[in-house]
Amino acid sequence: MKYPLASPDITAEDIAAVTAVLKTGMLVQGPVVAALEQSFCSYTGAAHAVAVSNGTATMHLALKLLGIGPGDEVVVPALSYVATANVVELVGAKPVFVDVEERTFNMDVEQLETALTPATKALLPVHEFGLCCDIANIHKIAVAHQLPLIEDAACALGATQHGVFAGTTGLMGSFSLHPRKSITSGEGGVLQTPDEGIATKLRQLRNHGIEMVNGQMDFVEAGFNYRMTDYQAALANSQMQRIAQTLIKKRQLSEVYFNEIKNPAITLPFVPQGHDHTWQTFHVLLPEDLDRPAVIAKLRAKGIGANYGAQCIPATTYYARKYDQDAATLYPNAWRAYTCGLAIPLYEKLTPADLQYIAAAINQL
Ligand SMILES: *Cc1c(COP(=O)(O)O)cnc(C)c1O
Repeated sequence: MKYPLASPDITAEDIAAVTAVLKTGMLVQGPVVAALEQSFCSYTGAAHAVAVSNGTATMHLALKLLGIGPGDEVVVPALSYVATANVVELVGAKPVFVDVEERTFNMDVEQLETALTPATKALLPVHEFGLCCDIANIHKIAVAHQLPLIEDAACALGATQHGVFAGTTGLMGSFSLHPRKSITSGEGGVLQTPDEGIATKLRQLRNHGIEMVNGQMDFVEAGFNYRMTDYQAALANSQMQRIAQTLIKKRQLSEVYFNEIKNPAITLPFVPQGHDHTWQTFHVLLPEDLDRPAVIAKLRAKGIGANYGAQCIPATTYYARKYDQDAATLYPNAWRAYTCGLAIPLYEKLTPADLQYIAAAINQL
C-alpha cells in the first residue's frame, strides 16, 4: 500500500534515543519514563503525569483507583474505540452509552444529563478522532453531580478547546501512545492528574501496589504490572520534543483535504470555532446509499489505505449480546458514523501532493 491509513514518523534522532537506552542495559521503568512524564507536564501544563504500558491500562487504573465496581455505572459515548467501554466492563461496572453529536462525533452533552442515575459513579467522555468534546460543559455537569471526570484523550494529545489542552480538565486525563496517536512508544499510555495523592496512588497501582516504608518494600494494594519500559519512553520522549511542529504539519495537511475534496456526496469533518484538532483520524461520512466496502476496495486499488473509523460500541457483538440494545435507534449518530464513516490517510510523512492524489480519488467515487 503506497498510502497506508497510518504510519508513524520515526526519525534518526528517535532511533538514537532508543538505542542509547538499550546500550545502558537498563530496560525497565526508570529515569527515561520519568523524563517522559515531565515532558507531558511541560507540554499540557498538567501537574502530574504517570506513564503506563498502554492507553487501555491508563483508564483501567483510573477506574480501579476510584473504587468503581459491580453495581456502578460509568457514562461513555456510544461511538469510540471499544477500549473506552471495555475498561468499565473489566472492573465489573456497567457502561451507560450516550449518543454523539452528528457533526463532531463527540458525546452529546444534553443527552449526557438524562443518562445519569443514582448508580452513576464517573463520566468517561472521549475526544474522538482528536477533536475535543464539549469538556467545559461536561465538567460543569460533573461538578454539579459530584462525579469524577476521566477524559479519554487517547487520540487528542495536543488538541485544544479555547486554549485548554485535552486531558487537563478532568480529575484524570488519559492518553494512548499507540503508533496511530499523536506520538508513539509502540505501546504506551499516560495518565495526567492535578491531584498529587491520585498520582502517588497511580504510581503504586502500576507497580504491584508497592510502597517504600523506611527503605523497605511493602505491598499495600493488589496492584498491576502496568509499567512502561525506558526504551519505549525514549521513543515517545524523543517524539515529544517536536510534537508542536508535528501537529502544525498535520493541520496544514488537513487543509489540503478541505480545499481539494469537492465530491458533494462526502461530508467533511466539522471543527467548531476555537478548537485545534490533532487529526488523529481524518474521518468523512459517505452517503448511506454508497457501498462502503466497495469504496474501500476502490481506494485500496489506488494504493490508499482507507478504513472504518470508530465503533458504535453497543452494536458490537459482546455489548449487543450482553445489553441487547437497538443501537441504530437509540444512538442514531453513532450508528451513522459506524456504518457510513471512512477514515482516510493523514500523517506527518505525507506531502500536500500525496493528499491531492487521495482527494482526487475521493472526488472520483
Ligand atoms: C487508541 C484508543 C484507546 C486505546 O489505547 P491503547 O493504547 O491502544 O490501549 C482508547 N480509547 C480511544 C478513544 C482510542 O482511540
